[in-house]
Amino acid sequence: MHHFHYQHGEMFCEQVAVQNIAAQVGTPFYLYSHATLSHHFGVFDTAFAGIPHLVCFSAKSNSNLAILRIFINLGGGVDIVSGGELYRALQAGAHPGKIVYSGVGKRPEELRYALEQDILLFNIESTQELLALNQIAGQMGKPARIALRVNPDVDPQTHPYISTGLKRHKFGINVDRAVEDYRLAQQLSHLEVVGVDCHIGSQLTELEPFIEALRRVKELIGRLEQENIHIRYLDLGGGLGIQYDQETPPHPQEYGQAIREELQGMDCTLILEPGRVIVGNAGVLVTKVLYTKESEEKHFIIVDAAMNDLARPSLYGSYHAVQPVVEKTRPEIVASLVGPICESGDFLARDRLMPAFQPGELVALMSAGAYGFTMSSNYNSRPRLPEILVHQDEFYVIRERETYEHLIWGEQIPPFLAGPGR
Ligand SMILES: *Cc1c(COP(=O)(O)O)cnc(C)c1O
Repeated sequence: MHHFHYQHGEMFCEQVAVQNIAAQVGTPFYLYSHATLSHHFGVFDTAFAGIPHLVCFSAKSNSNLAILRIFINLGGGVDIVSGGELYRALQAGAHPGKIVYSGVGKRPEELRYALEQDILLFNIESTQELLALNQIAGQMGKPARIALRVNPDVDPQTHPYISTGLKRHKFGINVDRAVEDYRLAQQLSHLEVVGVDCHIGSQLTELEPFIEALRRVKELIGRLEQENIHIRYLDLGGGLGIQYDQETPPHPQEYGQAIREELQGMDCTLILEPGRVIVGNAGVLVTKVLYTKESEEKHFIIVDAAMNDLARPSLYGSYHAVQPVVEKTRPEIVASLVGPICESGDFLARDRLMPAFQPGELVALMSAGAYGFTMSSNYNSRPRLPEILVHQDEFYVIRERETYEHLIWGEQIPPFLAGPGR
């Protein structure tokens, strides 16, 4: 369910014509619907009504301050994976007591920063990290609440690059070896063992892997209980998929139902870290056609957005639906939507049936709200895009388009090169 729709052949985001936004901010740009974002968060949260839970939105999927603020206002926490994301979460107004921190490579200064802020939970991914955090907590005289991120060895049946819960992956601690690490953690005097965490992958379209992972985590909690290690927080991570094309992921309600059933009789607070399912279909990337060209075998539609703006197609071969901002009657052709970057991998849609777009036309790449802007770069010295949030009949620039000055921020020509220049 989202709020991008057509009225008289023209695409609207809530009550604002996408065309009007383009006329005012230029192209390309990311566009998000506030109603969709808050609706998605509400549906997800409600799916766990009746059990103690905390929804920590995964900042890496979309970390704009205004977007984070929407979920914070709705009572959500934030799942972070770096010091930078902690900074963003705090700037957006998140309560540190609702922040959880995952990631295999947290640096000492990041651990210190998070401890200083007194975040809810560190999700620890290795024995060495456990020891490092204990040492820092000791130096600071401040105990750290921890969960171990266990790797349940479940195949999430998703793209290999976004699957994380198998033995061969770098994430977490093997679930069978976790008890040892829990014993160790229990002995470390500056750590407070409070939770178990797992996150098996992203864009999951089946419930079974989640349930399988949860069963293995429950088993572990039982074993820990026997050793007098009491688990208060069960963090199930994120990963619920969305529809990009023909996928049929479970509705958050079904996901919540299945998890609630599995959790019956358990006495802990559930933490969830959804990203994509909340923001994915709440955003689009709007771009303008620059040129079209035909080789002997192919049609190319060259647009002003590129792989640096939306990396997912070239990175994972991901599918984003291509839709006209203004509908017209005309033939459809098999074409590739490509950007201006000097790489053959620079495509947004490849060999797809799509309207025969003409130069000057606006095109929307759908479902671009998650891992869109946050994965973008300045490759080819392209300023990063503005982000626009629509609320009912108004739109707000929630991040300005970068300028050429931003591109060279912090760069210096050392004095020995001062020379004559040109
Ligand atoms: C990426 C990530 C998430 C969010 O995943 P989605 O598929 O976007 O829901 C949650 N938790 C952790 C630890 C992650 O790395």
